Amino acid sequence: MVFNKADKNKRMKMKRRMGGRLASAALAICLLAGNAQAVFAGDTVYVNCDVLRCRSSAEIKDGNIVKNVYYGDKLERVESKGEWTVVMVNGKKCYVSSQYLSASNPKGTPAPAAASGNSGTASTGGTQISVSSDWKYADFSKIKSGSAVLYKTASSARKNKTVCVNAGHGTSGGGSVKTQCHPDGTPKVTGGTTGAGATEAAAVSSGMTFNDGTAEANVTLALARILKEKLLSEGYDVLMIRESEDVQLDNIARTVLANNKADCHIALHWDSTANDKGAFYMSVPNVDSYRAMEPVASHWEQHNRLGEALVQGLKGAGVKIFSGGSMEMDLTQTSYSTVPSIDIELGDKASDHSAGTLNTLANGLTAGVNAFFGN
Ligand SMILES: [Zn+2]
Repeated sequence: MVFNKADKNKRMKMKRRMGGRLASAALAICLLAGNAQAVFAGDTVYVNCDVLRCRSSAEIKDGNIVKNVYYGDKLERVESKGEWTVVMVNGKKCYVSSQYLSASNPKGTPAPAAASGNSGTASTGGTQISVSSDWKYADFSKIKSGSAVLYKTASSARKNKTVCVNAGHGTSGGGSVKTQCHPDGTPKVTGGTTGAGATEAAAVSSGMTFNDGTAEANVTLALARILKEKLLSEGYDVLMIRESEDVQLDNIARTVLANNKADCHIALHWDSTANDKGAFYMSVPNVDSYRAMEPVASHWEQHNRLGEALVQGLKGAGVKIFSGGSMEMDLTQTSYSTVPSIDIELGDKASDHSAGTLNTLANGLTAGVNAFFGN
């Protein structure tokens, strides 16, 4: 099931509202026609919603989208026409909705795309995907009543690849339920949230809290939303594990969903140190017994290759990288993954997590995904 009736009503209402907005936009343009219009000598404005569509004409329709720009992006404004503003994109005049622009660089968390009206998202409506009990390793999951959402790209340049974007943490009750660390019941070979030697770990831990009091789970979600839009724009389909504060899917359920519905799995995290040490990926431990255990044996090289590609992408976007860019860690996610799968740590408790930084991180991760798939 894609949408329930309440959602449909909401969409109808939004459509009617947008229709009204369109009519008044057209009126504004008619009134201005033939008059000397307010012309700005290329002043700077900033995007103030999470995704804003730049269109070749002043109307909301399919097929006139030139490019998506993102929260905090700087634009050159050349003309203001009421509800529409003309900006320069790649040397061409484009129309964007005036209400999503601000004169100064916005701070804080961007408004979600769903609330941004004609800013739109680069996707069709999503499809909810639940964990099937037939799937391999699904029986090891203890929390699996929630569902992920699969979004298909609206881009004409389809990559035919699905990226699973997993906003780390955000499963209430997940810390008090235990799941098996390895499918074969052997103990963990490294420390981490759960110490080495344990055979069971928290189904989903609650995550850390940044020095400024923000919960890690909120920041992983904010980044996941931005990354989703960028990947969809690039032509990837995206499997979103979590899209709100809570999803009832533990780490094994998330992994099994990615195994069956995606071509790679990227879990977003920030580390619990507090020295702003930089980004890195959790690599597969160089421990013979671990690398010999299935499904790790058949997939560990792919996992590390994905991690390497993401770190290189981040580096290229100007993100600070910790040490050699990786740290060996025995994770539940890795232990059950049958597609290229990585836990990426984008920084730690002391790291900046403003919208501008999240945008940069999403650019780096998108570049890394492109490199991984050879695009
Ligand atoms: Zn985390």
